[in-house]
Amino acid sequence: MSKCIAFDMKSAFDAWDHMKLETVENYGGRAYGHYLHTWDDGERILARCKNCGGYILIQSSEFHGMEDDDYYGDYFPVDSPEEADELNRKYDGWEIETEFPDRYLMTQNLCVIYWSK
Ligand SMILES: [Zn+2]
Repeated sequence: MSKCIAFDMKSAFDAWDHMKLETVENYGGRAYGHYLHTWDDGERILARCKNCGGYILIQSSEFHGMEDDDYYGDYFPVDSPEEADELNRKYDGWEIETEFPDRYLMTQNLCVIYWSK
């Protein structure tokens, strides 16, 4: 088993379109003494792609605004549940966004979709 093939795609929209997700494990909002999200609320989930069987670590974060809330999603390629939990242990919500070594998919309010780099 390995990461979802969406992460090899050139277009972020094609990648988003490819990913059909089912939850494997919900890690919640906090583990290993730190938060597993940015801003005010959120969680991390290990998902598998129903199209290719690959793994994806998803970090969801919520910003509680004065009027509207904003929702951020980060989709990280991982090869295994072990690698996903290792990332949970190593990085808090902000750190994974800046220190994850490979390209990952980012969404904002589920309508702005782009690669991290
Ligand atoms: Zn896939």
